[in-house]
Amino acid sequence: MNELELDRYSRQLLLANFDVQGQLALGEANILIVGLGGLGNIAATYLATAGVGHLQLADDDKIEASNLPRQVLFDEDQIGDYKAQAAAQQIVKKNPAAKVTVLTERLAGEALANCVANADVVLDCCDNFATRQQINRACFKLKKPLVSAAAIRWEGQLISFRFDQQQSPCYECLYPELSDRQLSCNESGIIGPVVGSLGVLQALEGLKIASGCGQVEHGLLKLFDGFAGRWRELRLTQDTQCVVCGSRHSCNVSD
Ligand SMILES: [Zn+2]
Repeated sequence: MNELELDRYSRQLLLANFDVQGQLALGEANILIVGLGGLGNIAATYLATAGVGHLQLADDDKIEASNLPRQVLFDEDQIGDYKAQAAAQQIVKKNPAAKVTVLTERLAGEALANCVANADVVLDCCDNFATRQQINRACFKLKKPLVSAAAIRWEGQLISFRFDQQQSPCYECLYPELSDRQLSCNESGIIGPVVGSLGVLQALEGLKIASGCGQVEHGLLKLFDGFAGRWRELRLTQDTQCVVCGSRHSCNVSD
């Protein structure tokens, strides 16, 4: 690390167990963020400013005015731009050392598998179950750590999977056979600080995994009720009939 980097990251370098080793590991890390909405905006910002060397930002959506109250990385003059592109522009301003790969297609199949294969950690910040299920399958198959979060109305949830260390349970065990009939923010509403809180926690999990410092529990579901201001934790157990991690192991990464 040079003098500028030592100064920039000095408060992190002071952390017990993190040290220069953790910072260097962050600099070498490649993190894939799928979805640059309220979760991905916040997670990408903290990961880039903390010194993660390479971010892959994937989102096929464009910025709308109704996104701005929670997608705080974006400026008003970016309305109409691709979210992944706009996020990359903002992030490079905050940390010019960050290498950013922009993906403006909806990741699926082989393209998704390639991005996951290149990543050390995957953050699922997307807004639809079809993509969530595909990300889970790809991470399971390629043994990549996955940090998944979601938020709607006043509620949020976070769950991490260390597929590099454990193979079950997986995201599919939590929501088997869910279709895309789930509620969206368009129909149900959402409040910015709730989704932001979950995005911050995704960044924290990502930083711990990428730096090798700190604990990330496999399959511990954290549920946040922002209206009541309360958290709950549930231990996810394997669904033995799970089509991804169950004993049948019928998962195919290109499904
Ligand atoms: Zn499973």
